Amino acid sequence: MLRSDMGVVSTASPRPIGKQKTKLNRDAERMSALIAFTARSLRTERPRPFGAAIVHTRTGKPLLRALNNVAGESDPSAHAEVRAIRRATKRLKQLSLDGYTLYTTCEPCPMCMSTALWAGLDRVVYGATIEDANHHFSQIQIPATEIAARSDMNCIVDGPFMREECYAIFTHPNMLRAMRRWSTRKRK
Ligand SMILES: [Zn+2]
Repeated sequence: MLRSDMGVVSTASPRPIGKQKTKLNRDAERMSALIAFTARSLRTERPRPFGAAIVHTRTGKPLLRALNNVAGESDPSAHAEVRAIRRATKRLKQLSLDGYTLYTTCEPCPMCMSTALWAGLDRVVYGATIEDANHHFSQIQIPATEIAARSDMNCIVDGPFMREECYAIFTHPNMLRAMRRWSTRKRK
């Protein structure tokens, strides 16, 4: 089942106008920058398809970005989103990320989406879907929108956005080569 069937706010409006167009352009700029940052890992020993960025919602000022580093930190919870959120709250010396938006190359898993909610982020914008990631890695099959909808927090979840561009990182030859070494996807 595609996530676009699940009431996700689509950012693929054919004729964006006015404010909406500006918002789309801003999202495209921020996501493109995140894709470029994440794709840089393709040229390293440890390519990673998962990147996250935290940006001030109103001003667009980037706060920080992070890659998944589960292997590097021997930490199964070191997903890009969780790492970005942890570093952001530490840097700001506050628990709340109210006023900030999280961009992520892949739909947040339930752990990451829950962390985003606990952090009070305004909005989450994701690229590829859990379904896309599941072609390569084991996943917990609960959509980010469902986690948000069943919480008491208000967090807008937008996506998939620039899905193809984000998914292209997963299918880059260097990424596929690396995945053969460390993919968690169950081989059936
Ligand atoms: Zn996650």
